[in-house]
Amino acid sequence: MEVRVQFDPECRMALTLSDQILKTAVEQSFNAVVITTAQMEMPGPQILYVNRAFCDMTGYTAQELIGKTPRILQGPRTDADTIERLRRCVKAGEFFIGNTVNYRKDGSCYYVEWNISPIRDGKGLITHFVSVQRDLSEKVRAEYERNLMANALEANSDQVVMTDRAGHIVYVNRAFEKQTGYRRQDVLGKNPRILKSGHHDGTFYKELWDTLQSGQPFRATFVNKARDGSLFHLEQTITPVRDELGEITHYMSTGKDISERVRMEQVLRRMATIDLLTGLPNRSFGEQLLEREWHRAGRYAEGFSLIMADIDHFKAINDQHGHEVGDQVLSWMGQLLQDLVRRSDTAIRWGGEEFLILIPKTDLRDAVELAERVRAGIGRHAHPVVGHVTLSLGVSSRREDDTRKTLLRRADDALYGAKEAGRDCVGAAPDD
Ligand code: GH3
Ligand code: MG
Ligand code: MG
Repeated sequence: MEVRVQFDPECRMALTLSDQILKTAVEQSFNAVVITTAQMEMPGPQILYVNRAFCDMTGYTAQELIGKTPRILQGPRTDADTIERLRRCVKAGEFFIGNTVNYRKDGSCYYVEWNISPIRDGKGLITHFVSVQRDLSEKVRAEYERNLMANALEANSDQVVMTDRAGHIVYVNRAFEKQTGYRRQDVLGKNPRILKSGHHDGTFYKELWDTLQSGQPFRATFVNKARDGSLFHLEQTITPVRDELGEITHYMSTGKDISERVRMEQVLRRMATIDLLTGLPNRSFGEQLLEREWHRAGRYAEGFSLIMADIDHFKAINDQHGHEVGDQVLSWMGQLLQDLVRRSDTAIRWGGEEFLILIPKTDLRDAVELAERVRAGIGRHAHPVVGHVTLSLGVSSRREDDTRKTLLRRADDALYGAKEAGRDCVGAAPDD
């Protein structure tokens, strides 16, 4: 409908028409409008007029609202600070704009943005307030939904890093900041290679880029370096992100920090291979080491010798000083042996008070010499509780027709010979 305001010379007609138009305009306005008195004392301004949109927004009829105060719309989630600011503005005759949660007649919430203007009479006195309001619930919900993904990424306990196509970091989440020690502003625009630990070789990175460029996600355990230089293990997946035309625009990486698991695995592996009492390789790991050295000696036709060493009269030590002191002596002896052998040799706790020493690249004569040095070296030390402790040692060297079993048996026999010969001495099995 087209409305034309016509000015007649007396203006009365124009005024009448604009009254009508104004009333209709307010009544039909898309925005909710409420007019109240300017009464500031309790119970506060009273509602004199509400338009249709206001009734639609609140679920009340005009009759239900007229004479009430706008507080009828407030509830537990209405922001008290905003209402206080409103009160101050209105009291001072200032314009107010704000937003908060209000309540419909049926108790449901809506998110409202509203402004309030004072209406003054000819003398400038405030007689009424007019408030225009808008239900923003849909907008707020849409915004929440738009932010939902970002909020979810942010709250994720796994690290999330997003780079652009050129590899510049454009996003990291809180978990990334926490685990790496880098703040967001430190890394935005940088390349993720700042996290490189040097633990991966060129092949690793080639495979990474080959996989990503073929459009596939790349999964691997990364060893990364945090800001303070400490290393952490990350079970990481890097995925290319494509635009609507199928072009790769970003790479998104999510990584689970598995450092604790890796540490536990290392501890378990160590526990499975190391004898807890002496800190030496245990029997089962020792057998693997023996096998490895045995094959190496065969492959390179090198000499290979063994020393089987056994503590003399150890039972008497246990009997005299107790099992606990016996344990201490074993631990002490393990340390001594490790110190006395060469770096290329390996001392293993083979049994109760029995030690096997692997001596690569060494023939019988040199091995006997080493055994004698070990025996003499032990003689130069005394245990703080039990005093001098002696070892008997048997030496054998690999022969052409040997198996590991026969080589070990000859070391055992030589040890037996040393015991027979009075202990604290070295026995050697003939090598021809
Ligand atoms: P020999 O000079 O002939 O070797 O005499 P020995 O007393 O050393 O030999 P024997 O084989 O009769 O005794 C070894 C003792 O070592 C018996 C066992 O109770 C003790 N033993 C074995 N393992 C441990 C251990 O882990 N801790 C302690 N405290 N004692 C152990
Ligand atoms: Mg013994
Ligand atoms: Mg023994």
